[in-house]
Amino acid sequence: MKVVICGAGVIGASTAYFLAERGATATLVERCDVACAASGKSGGFIARDWCDGQPQAELARASFDLHAELARTLDADYGYKRIDTLLVAGSDRGGVDRYRAMEAPAWLDGHCAVHSAIGSTDTTATIHPERFTRALVDAACARGARLVHGTVEGIARDASGAVRGVRVDGDEIAADAVVIAMGPWSVLAARWLPLPPVAGLKGYSVVLGPRTPVAAQALFVEYENAAGEHSSPEIVARADGEVWACGQSSDDPLPVDPADVSVDEAKCREIARICGALSSRLDDVDILRTQACYRPICADAMPLLGPVRDVPGAYLATGHNCWGMLNAPASGRAMAELLCDGASSSVDLSPFDPARLEAVRIDAAAD
Ligand SMILES: Cc1cc2nc3c(=O)[nH]c(=O)nc-3n(C[C@H](O)[C@H](O)[C@H](O)COP(=O)(O)OP(=O)(O)OC[C@H]3O[C@@H](n4cnc5c(N)ncnc54)[C@H](O)[C@@H]3O)c2cc1C
Repeated sequence: MKVVICGAGVIGASTAYFLAERGATATLVERCDVACAASGKSGGFIARDWCDGQPQAELARASFDLHAELARTLDADYGYKRIDTLLVAGSDRGGVDRYRAMEAPAWLDGHCAVHSAIGSTDTTATIHPERFTRALVDAACARGARLVHGTVEGIARDASGAVRGVRVDGDEIAADAVVIAMGPWSVLAARWLPLPPVAGLKGYSVVLGPRTPVAAQALFVEYENAAGEHSSPEIVARADGEVWACGQSSDDPLPVDPADVSVDEAKCREIARICGALSSRLDDVDILRTQACYRPICADAMPLLGPVRDVPGAYLATGHNCWGMLNAPASGRAMAELLCDGASSSVDLSPFDPARLEAVRIDAAAD
């Protein structure tokens, strides 16, 4: 079976890996670079039970376990580490002592108080998102998959309307099946296929390089600035010593080319400033990267995993919103099962069937 996967973010990479493991011929097509978008710039925080009570609870629990297995079996160091996760209150105006319910780790010596532990080494972990995505692509290629740099421009269909191939930079790559895994850019594929709308929500983040090490931990912070404005930064101190932090967003529209995502340096500086206010070890440190990315989200904020209505051979794998790094392994494995066996046996994909949302037909004519 020849499968073309459009987009080498973590969802496309995972799908390619599990397809290659099953002996399918997987071709991954990427417009810019592996993990150039959210999959390389996200927090890389994963949690076993934070999706409990939602349709993706089973997917998340299966994925958390699969992450542990992949960390043992993939031949790569991408900083997988089980960590403690804390809920923290911080303020430029002081007065957070009333929230203090437990002792802070030594590195949290600034204007803050630890309210509670919301995750432990049993339930939360961190990975380096870009290195993880690259590890999946490398492992897929070692098992026979192919990575092609190019822009997907359309889907070729035969007289019956079934997928025949994928148009990439003016050429056609023959395919029995295509998986649209272009994250928020999956919206562009609605010109070729009847797809539910997918949007991109933009967030800014920084990567800091502390000179004095901080413990690998994650913090979910409620922060008040000097003007009394509130934000909710998330901080992930990774296994490699780098500290990632986010907490600023914008409603900038998604650019057509992923290479054109712009960074607002002032928003990034504010994230770094808050980190410095929380910890002297993060004050006046090197800002290694300032970055922005879009998380893919659809109308009900749940993943879209399944066949495209009325187009044999076309599949969609996107919409993972704020949990794409967590849910990539189980999503990729389930997509590979669906493609190769006709159904997923490891998790129930029915809550994520794209058919649950009204399809938008822009131009789905067969050619
Ligand atoms: C600030 C932020 C923090 C986050 N933190 C976490 C976290 O801690 N834990 C977690 O689980 N999730 C997190 N997420 C969510 C997670 O990052 C995303 O859900 C996930 O990365 C989506 O992966 P994807 O493969 O669907 O899309 P993307 O990573 O966007 O990949 C899509 C790929 O498609 C390519 N592409 C686009 N157009 C074309 C084309 N025409 N032809 C070929 N290729 C194309 C792009 O270049 C890109 O590489 C975070 C998201 C944000 C924004």
